[in-house]
Amino acid sequence: SKLPEFAAIGRSNVGKSSLINCLTGNDKLAKVSKEPGMTKLINHFLINDTWYLVDLPGYGFAKTASREARASWLDFTKDFFISRDALVHVLLLVDGSLPPQQVDLDCAAWLAECEVPFAIVFTKADAAKKGAPTPAQNVRAFKKALSQVLEVLPWCFETSSRSGRGRSEVLGYLASLRELARRNGGP
Ligand code: GDP
Repeated sequence: SKLPEFAAIGRSNVGKSSLINCLTGNDKLAKVSKEPGMTKLINHFLINDTWYLVDLPGYGFAKTASREARASWLDFTKDFFISRDALVHVLLLVDGSLPPQQVDLDCAAWLAECEVPFAIVFTKADAAKKGAPTPAQNVRAFKKALSQVLEVLPWCFETSSRSGRGRSEVLGYLASLRELARRNGGP
């Protein structure tokens, strides 16, 4: 049978490549780009010969992004979610160094609407900017905003690819989901 897949999505520059490197423990595995929007193609990372981490294109959604660009990202991603029967779970990455962004709230609402099982992984939990809210405050604000949209909050993890914070929690979560899928005879 097919190996189980987990997909990571998020805004460009959210820290997806860094997180994938952090989770897989291989700096050469995912390309970390300095410029936003470099993760254009789908990359499959085979982990321990037993499961895949799938790197989906980031949603750009700069203020200038066209309606067409957004629509094509949504179409593309939705097609992917529908067509992948090995897909177990999605990780929605949210930048913990920023206050709640509407596009991320929209994406979470959209996943819930499509009944795609997902968890939220906040990135950059280490990032402290002078005079700006802390990542802990940003996370709290995001959850509060999300609770106004969703009846049930998804599992949330606070991570830092710099410090490794949250790494074992996320890996443990993915392992338990794989075990569950295996017992249910899924992928
Ligand atoms: P991607 O476009 O989502 O793949 O993001 P990258 O992994 O390329 O990271 C985007 C930027 O965020 C880079 O400048 C990284 O150095 C920075 N970054 C990524 N992860 C972290 C983190 O855990 N903490 C901090 N402080 N910065 C991070």
